[in-house]
Amino acid sequence: MRIPLFNDKVVKKYLPNYLKIDRNEIAAKFQIAKRIKANFDSSMNIQDLMKIHSKLVKKIKYKKFEKILKKDIPEKSLLDLKILIADKIIEKCEFCEHKCKVNRNKQLGICQLPNKLLISSEFVHWGEESYFIPSHTIFFYSCNMLCKFCQNFTISYRLEKPIEITPKKLAEIIDYRRTFENTRNLNLVGGEPTPHLNQILKILKNVETNIPVIWNSNMYMSEISMELLNGIIDVYLADFKFGNNECARRYTIVRNYFDIITRNLKIASKQAEIVIRHLILPNHLECCTFKVLKWISENLKEKALVNLMDQYFPYWKAQEFPEINRRITVKEFSLALRKALELGIAVKD
Ligand code: SF4
Repeated sequence: MRIPLFNDKVVKKYLPNYLKIDRNEIAAKFQIAKRIKANFDSSMNIQDLMKIHSKLVKKIKYKKFEKILKKDIPEKSLLDLKILIADKIIEKCEFCEHKCKVNRNKQLGICQLPNKLLISSEFVHWGEESYFIPSHTIFFYSCNMLCKFCQNFTISYRLEKPIEITPKKLAEIIDYRRTFENTRNLNLVGGEPTPHLNQILKILKNVETNIPVIWNSNMYMSEISMELLNGIIDVYLADFKFGNNECARRYTIVRNYFDIITRNLKIASKQAEIVIRHLILPNHLECCTFKVLKWISENLKEKALVNLMDQYFPYWKAQEFPEINRRITVKEFSLALRKALELGIAVKD
């Protein structure tokens, strides 16, 4: 069963390419990147490889799916180049802004992840935004942000056992679900997908179907990761939780949250379509919700659809922080919604 959404004016305005890929009218970006020829040598350093990358990525423009399908896949493509760069970065890992610089083939950084494809689960999700369901959601293992109130804490804090799978096998599952279960998109989430960037690129290399790719993330990526995502991701589904660095520091392990997330949101909005999720926290309207909404209204009002999320529950360590040890009130949600509408933000869940 598919939910019709083509007559929804707001979704059409903010996610036009997403809708066209889902209807197979145009090709998803990763299918285009797979067909752009790249000349490079695996012995080259990251800086030189990135120079080739920045030239080639400009060639990515949405085209008719039938036209892209007819193109041969070259021996070495832009997607292969991205994989090579990511495999080199992971030897001194800086996929995210922690920039641990560890070689994940031998050591672990803050995310505690080796260089393996580890997932918690994958399934067809009916609980995402109305315009994204049915969504083939892959929950990648572990996280780099570790919110004290994490709503998915068993995955983020590695309290459950991961499943190790090969990129090829996971790609087969993605193709199966797209073909036979009518999944509308591939939704890469977690935990957090960022520490799995090189493995995710390898998954996409093996995916044969045309499917919109959603990067469902806390957005604490490094700039080089953002560059590698350019030309691969069709929609950013971006968390924007805190309106300042101090609240982020109190409840997570990240520094400079607001500066990094706003930088990445601006980059993301130039690369792809974007939906911003804001989880309303109790007692954080003035410092977080209103600041987040104000920033969106001043910077991305015309580009981003916003989902104001009311489902916060004081999971995991939230009880150690009295101010967030409850659900939000109806009044808090109403005030948040009123502020978003006053600022002219497009709100849709
Ligand atoms: S992904 Fe981030 S947290 Fe994990 S090792 Fe790399 S830089 Fe560190």
